[in-house]
This record gives sequence, C-alpha cells and structure tokens, in this order.
Amino acid sequence: MKNNDDKFKKIIAHSKEYGFIFQSSEIYDGLSAVYDYAQNGVELKKNIKEYWWKAMVQMNENIVGIDTAIFMHPTVWKASGHLGAFNDPMVDNKDSKKRYRADVLVEDFMAKIEGKINKDIAKAKKRFGDEFNEEEFRATNGRIKERQAKIDQISKTLYSSMESEELGKIKTLIEDLGITCPLSGSKNWTDVRQFNLMFSTQIGSVSDESNEIYLRPETAQGIFVNYLNVQKTGRMKIPFGIAQIGKAFRNEIVARQFIFRMREFEQMEMQFFVRPGEELKWFEYWKEQRINWHKSLGISEDNYRFHDHEKLAHYANAASDIEFNFPMGFKELEGIHSRTDFDLTAHQEYSGKKLQYFDPELGKSYVPYVVETSIGLDRMFLSILTTSYTEEKLDDGSERLVMKFPPILAPIKAAILPLTKKDGLPEKAREIMADLKQDYICQYDEKDAIGKRYRRQDAIGTPYCITIDHQSLEDNTVTIRDRDTMQQERVAIKDIYTIIRNKLSLKM
Ligand code: ATP
Repeated sequence: MKNNDDKFKKIIAHSKEYGFIFQSSEIYDGLSAVYDYAQNGVELKKNIKEYWWKAMVQMNENIVGIDTAIFMHPTVWKASGHLGAFNDPMVDNKDSKKRYRADVLVEDFMAKIEGKINKDIAKAKKRFGDEFNEEEFRATNGRIKERQAKIDQISKTLYSSMESEELGKIKTLIEDLGITCPLSGSKNWTDVRQFNLMFSTQIGSVSDESNEIYLRPETAQGIFVNYLNVQKTGRMKIPFGIAQIGKAFRNEIVARQFIFRMREFEQMEMQFFVRPGEELKWFEYWKEQRINWHKSLGISEDNYRFHDHEKLAHYANAASDIEFNFPMGFKELEGIHSRTDFDLTAHQEYSGKKLQYFDPELGKSYVPYVVETSIGLDRMFLSILTTSYTEEKLDDGSERLVMKFPPILAPIKAAILPLTKKDGLPEKAREIMADLKQDYICQYDEKDAIGKRYRRQDAIGTPYCITIDHQSLEDNTVTIRDRDTMQQERVAIKDIYTIIRNKLSLKM
C-alpha cells in the first residue's frame, strides 16, 4: 500500500510538472476537489472524449448525441428523485472537526479486514506453491472464515440501515466497531445525518426560494427529458440510444484522491431505449460492449473487473460497475445500469406530458425501458494516467520516466526535432511540421541535446519523435523513434504522414 501511495504522489506531482493537471485557483491555495486541465491534460481529455464518442455515436447507427444545458427546470430533480434522495450519510468527528461519509468509514474498516484475509492467503500461496487451492483454503481456514463472517455481518447491517435510512443504526455500528477518526484517533462522533449532494443557486435577478435551481448532478436527465424530441426529429426506432458528454456537479463530502472524486467533473453517458422486457438482454450487451471498449486501448486486462450490484438503487433492476485497479485499489470507473422505465414514467407524471413511444412493429405504445452506460471522464483520465506512468531502468544504467499512453490518446502525437539549430535543418524540420500539424498535434523543439529532448517527450508520452539530421538534407530521410521501444527507423520524408496515419488510425 505504501508503495502505491508513493507512486500516486509521484503521479500527481508529475501531472503538475508536465502540464496535465493544476489545482483550481492555486495562487489562492486552491479549491478543494476542483481541478484545471492544463495544456497536455486538455489534449488527453479531448482524445478520450473523441475515442468514446466515435465508439458510441459514430460506430452505432442507432445512437445519436446531444448537448443539453447544465441548468434545468427544478422539477426535473423532484421527478428524478435527486431532491429527496440524492444524499450521503455524513458524520463529524468532534475532536478533529473533520467530516466523513459514514458508509465510507465502515467500508474502510471492512477493507482492513479484507486486507488481513489477503495477507493470509498470500502467505499460504507461498507455502503450498502450485498445490494451493484458494477456494478450498477460504472455505476451511478457521481464521479466514471468522473474518469473512465478520465482513458479511457488518456489510449486511450497513446496507440494510442505509436502505431503510436508519441513521442511528449506522452510528451504533461505527461505535460498536470502535472506528476511530484517522486524523485525531478519537471515537468522539456526532450523530449521522443526511447531506444532499446537489449545488443550488438562484436564477433571475430576484433571490427567493421559487427561483432556486440546481447544477445538474448527472447528465442523464437532460437526455430523458429530450428523448421524445430526439426520437421524433431523428426518426429513431427502438432500440436506440442518446449519448452526451458534459459537466456534472456534486458537493461530495469526502473529496479526496485527486481527480477520482471531484465536485465538478465530466460524465460520458449513453441512455439506450428498449422494449420493456428486453432490458436485461441489452444490459448484458452493453456490459460486453463497454468492457471491450476499455480493452481495446491495450491496457493490461487484469486492471479491469466487473462488480455486480447486489444492493440495487430504487430505479434499477440490474446494475454492474466496471472497476479499475487505481493506485488506491479497485474502484468504480463506469456504471452500467438497467434503469427500467423509472425516469421516463416519473417525468411523465411530474410534467403531465405523455412520453410514450409508438412501436410500429408491435402496433402499440409504451414507455421505453432504459439501459445506461455512465463513465466519469476524469476517472477515465486518471486510469490512463496511472497505468501509463512508467519508471524504467535502461541497459546503460540510466533511468527514464515515460508516459506510455495508448498512442491514440497521447496529447502530442509527434515531436519534430532538428538535430542542430543550423545548416538548414530547422527549415527542413519546419516543412515536416507544416505537413503534419494540419491533422495532428505536433511539437517542434530545437533546444538542448537530442537525448534531453527525447526525455522531455517521453515525460509527456509523445509516441513518435522525428529527428532531422544532416543525412536528411542529402537523401530526404529522417529517423522516427518509437517511445516504448526507443528503436529508431530511417524513413523517407514523403512517407512520414502515411506512417503516422497508419499508426494512429482507428481502422488500422
Ligand atoms: P461513487 O460511488 O464513486 O460516488 P456513483 O456510483 O455515485 O460513484 P454514478 O452516479 O453512477 O457514480 O456516476 C457515474 C460515473 O460518474 C461514475 O462511474 C464515475 O466514473 C463518475 N463520477 C461520479 N461521481 C464522481 C465524482 N465526484 N468525481 C468524478 N467522477 C465521478
């Protein structure tokens, strides 16, 4: 864990030093859980969005995109249930004055027990070698069984109390388990209270309650309230989907872990409208599509796993998360939810407008069911950032730091590097730059020794470095250096564009 913490700290420092992410309002000591994307970060983020949009909208003839406003009519949030139920249980420690999410405190406690179990298993694995059977060991080892039973008991109490909103029971659980504040070490807790996560503000010039509106806590509702507009104007036939990328805002109680949990963040969501009764088939379909999308980036597959929800939200009849192995462990990256007709029926009720679809094949009208895929863009960014960060020892004993981004997501695609600042090399280099920059973000760099320039590009993850040397003037060839293998290949200048295109094309 310690190693992972150190690595995470290094990644955060690196992303500031190399222009990926800055703390918001840094000169005023920052704003907690709010971040700015810097010159390289913004490119990486844009490329992730594009990669998602292409896979969801461009590649699916029955999915279209929209871009709805952040502000919505306040009744939307009554209908969606956010005004009544978008709460987290919070608890304050009276000594440190620090506020926590009560459920997270208990979950962290369970994770500690889980950690002990894993330690025992790792030890046994070492001892028994190839003969080790983990399943059998879990089922028979007394200490592990005892610990697992404890986790199961705590989990049952926690989730049933959350479900029934018995906040007193959660407080008792925290006390019974003897959970202490990580800061003060004390057990001096306030009562557990509900805290609504929506930000509110006033619309118009008069500030009274009737003008109160909210910053959207998810992009999905913009899609629900527009689904009939899109269906009619786009002549969409069920099943069809609507996709959207946009900002969402949540006043998170525990805002930590860098861009994992932010108060202002971006979501990439797709709502897929289907016939009632067919939703579970489509749920399975989208689970598979989405995990394949992640795997297509070439990141090691054991970084991903599904976590099927046992405890379902009131609107869902199936839900699964794609979890990613972040530096702080496996955590939710994307959610796939079968939301039934909950949202559309609620909007129909609150707005008094019919939101039914006439199915020409069935010859009848119904409120469609919805399967959604919802991924946090910033979390996706973090997953890419953390797996790409690589410290490498080279054969000559030196070290290099390289961001091994999937080339298609890399902020800068190619660096154009004239070996020297004279002899006509810069002019030649500029010609190549001019040719590539219409289609790709490139960086021209003629300062410092070439080795140093390569390192700079490694640190921001540029997949290809094109070096123009004296031979280039004689025979119109250059070298292309591959970021990961560091191999250099001599190629004709006239072929550079095609080579880069082939390396970066989705089709290829
Ligand atoms: P969590 O349990 O981590 O709070 P959630 O279950 O509330 O997440 P959803 O409401 O399902 O999340 O939102 C869909 C996606 O939006 C999540 O999978 C996550 O990637 C992203 N997301 C949610 N909250 C945040 C946040 N505060 N900061 C960054 N991304 C977020």
